[in-house]
Amino acid sequence: MYDYLIVGAGLYGSTFAYEATKRGKKVLVIDKRNHVGGNIYCENIEGINVHKYGAHIFHTSDKEVWDYVNDIVEFNRYTNQPIANFNGEIYNLPFNMNTFNKLWGVITPEEAKLKIEEQKKQAGIEIPKNLEEQAISLVGTDIYEKLIKGYTEKQWGRSATELPAFIIRRLPVRFSYDNNYFNDLYQGIPIGGYNKIIEKMLEKCDVRLGVDFFEHKDELEKKAEKILFTGMIDEFYDYKFGVLEYRSLKFETEILNEENYQGNAVVNYTDRDTPYTRIIEHKHFEYGTQNKTVITKEYPADWKIGDEPYYPINNDRNDEMFAKYKELAVREDKYIFGGRLADYKYYDMHNVIRAALDKVKEAM
Ligand code: FAD
Ligand code: UDP
Repeated sequence: MYDYLIVGAGLYGSTFAYEATKRGKKVLVIDKRNHVGGNIYCENIEGINVHKYGAHIFHTSDKEVWDYVNDIVEFNRYTNQPIANFNGEIYNLPFNMNTFNKLWGVITPEEAKLKIEEQKKQAGIEIPKNLEEQAISLVGTDIYEKLIKGYTEKQWGRSATELPAFIIRRLPVRFSYDNNYFNDLYQGIPIGGYNKIIEKMLEKCDVRLGVDFFEHKDELEKKAEKILFTGMIDEFYDYKFGVLEYRSLKFETEILNEENYQGNAVVNYTDRDTPYTRIIEHKHFEYGTQNKTVITKEYPADWKIGDEPYYPINNDRNDEMFAKYKELAVREDKYIFGGRLADYKYYDMHNVIRAALDKVKEAM
């Protein structure tokens, strides 16, 4: 008999498991995949940590969370500075003075602001109602056309006029020559990869892989006092209120017989015709010096039940449906729910750790 059964060995389940075992609880962790770590899992190929489920950069302003992960593993000084390739033209991201200078030849922040203001005025936008209008209000039509429209429409599979404005507000717009993609105080990649964190967190638990909770539900329910479920909440309730929608991704990974393919970890392809959104060259996350390199092309894809659910589509329909599932979930006695799939929320890693630590405080 266990105190806790944890369904899902991702970062949420693993953080909860780590805290529970620190408190002397007996914990069993299961995952339907054949590895731990969920989406932060890295596969070692040619001595390079390959981010199997998409590029992961740890960034946070939460000092407690930063100290927490640094107690487990040492982080390097990696700072994400992706570049955009628009039909062979290269621009710095996020949108900053380097981008504005390359595009318009402007030198000072004042000149850049004037240029944006002029383009915004021409577009006639007062209060932005969708992603397109929000983007033009923030950075003007030139940047929207070259660096946002194509990428966004590929990524989300719909027109930028049908997408909510908040998606683009995730990206910083800066009137300084600073290419750091994030505004957070702390940033880095675990030296030796993300698996190190998960392995440490699960050190004192029993772990069973390749086990789908729903295939063994009756038997598993008897094994523990409490169950933390970090899978899809609509699946848990047999989709009784409907299916929550996601956007999916397909990854194409290649080993190349060269040392340095693109000179940067992340290159975004912002035109509409290139079918992938970005190419990741994994060795650059850890300043690798191997003779070979491994690259991954990331293709956005539609999602249906059975595909990997990557990005929740938080529109009104889905958010209202989620609220109904949530209402059932909070009334459960034996079950606790958490993580990006049970909360139907786009969480960064630091949000996941924060949410799991808060949940532990509530539960134990
Ligand atoms: P998951 O990692 O999805 O773990 C859930 C686990 O539950 C999975 O292993 C799954 O197999 C298992 N499971 C589900 N159902 C069942 C079942 N029925 N039975 C058994 N097991 C089950 N965050 C950042 O901070 N920085 C980044 O740069 C970043 N980049 C990202 C890039 C991409 C492409 C994506 C999609 C996400 C990115 N994230 C990033 C977010 C990060 O991946 C998540 O915050 C984190 O991995 C979520 O952890 P989790 O435990 O909630 O979910
Ligand atoms: N985006 C864009 N051009 C880029 C990068 C991002 O238009 O070169 C937009 C796109 O709509 C994307 C959003 O900004 O969905 C958020 O970008 P972020 O890099 O945070 O996306 P993620 O890494 O989560 O896929």
